[in-house]
Amino acid sequence: MSKNFGPEYVRAIAPYQAGKPIAEVAREFGLNEDAIVKLASNENPFGVPASAKEAMIAAAAELGRYPDANGFDLKAALAKRYDVPADWITLGNGSNDILEIAAHAFVERGQAVVYAQYSFAVYALATQGVGARHIVVPAKAYGHDLPAMLAAIDADTRLVFIANPNNPTGTFIPAAEIEAFLKQVPANVVVVLDEAYNEFLAPEHQYESTAWVKQYPNLLVSRTFSKAYGLAGLRVGFAIAQPGLTDLMNRIRQPFNVNSMAQAAAIAALNDKEFLAKGAANNAAGYQQFTEAFEALGLEYVPSYGNFVLVKVGKDLAAGARINLALLKQGVIVRPVGNYGLPEWLRISIGLPQENAVLIAALTKALAA
Ligand SMILES: *Cc1c(COP(=O)(O)O)cnc(C)c1O
Repeated sequence: MSKNFGPEYVRAIAPYQAGKPIAEVAREFGLNEDAIVKLASNENPFGVPASAKEAMIAAAAELGRYPDANGFDLKAALAKRYDVPADWITLGNGSNDILEIAAHAFVERGQAVVYAQYSFAVYALATQGVGARHIVVPAKAYGHDLPAMLAAIDADTRLVFIANPNNPTGTFIPAAEIEAFLKQVPANVVVVLDEAYNEFLAPEHQYESTAWVKQYPNLLVSRTFSKAYGLAGLRVGFAIAQPGLTDLMNRIRQPFNVNSMAQAAAIAALNDKEFLAKGAANNAAGYQQFTEAFEALGLEYVPSYGNFVLVKVGKDLAAGARINLALLKQGVIVRPVGNYGLPEWLRISIGLPQENAVLIAALTKALAA
């Protein structure tokens, strides 16, 4: 009898490697939790907005009941914000859920999914999870090479994942390039445009992806409340697409995939313009703080449009792991990216000015050792 359960494509999955939790690092390295700085998961350094906390407390009173399976109020708020009908919106348990649902809804085993080298790890997982073939297109300057991705689409391809800005590299694709891509993609190929970091874009880089959704029935835009809105622990994301795609997403998603507290908090956060503005200002200042320090240390980095920076901490293939360990010993958690094929690099999330300063001091020390 075979001791292997499940299909071969499931056994072949390499599980997602998350940033180390603070408590785990404290235990492992004998440190005080309060002294640890975590800049590893692109979380919001301001934490949960006060507006969302209030909404959650109110929602807690109703937790004996199931959540609204259709997320009426949250969808209404999103529909208003993005000027689309509410039935063009799919809510997700984080946008990871959206990416998974999309793979299940649009791709079958043996078909193919196109995504870029050094793009978000969940694209590979979602592809593998449905037993589809991976078409990984080599990156160009650590970002997406859209003409090459277009050329890579074959007769079996049903889905393309694009992250803009991209994680873990922070690269950005200008609107004109995306539009040129959308114009040429075959109509039977779904394009998932993952905009997890959209809110961090400077005004001159912002573009209207929902206008494209109205124009292209094969486009799905994915967003999250985990980064700019400070709700990573609650797990809320959403997709905007025309009914042809949204109807299928709805059949695949679990009926209660977004809990009541998360729905309430997301509405509050969505309307909290002050919180978003504070986060954007802190991010821009922190980016400058980091990149000035990296330049002073002679470190190469990839110019970032998100709330994190990919920085090269050495020339040998063990550099990322070595510097990561040296940082952990000093109570600073960042993200090694060897699993992305970037073993000389670390991805560092932008924190509060004081947290950034701790990272810079610890990195300086680690590099000198
Ligand atoms: C963080 C991230 C997400 C989503 O995270 P959720 O918490 O699941 O919403 C999606 N795409 C990219 C590229 C990300 O970096």
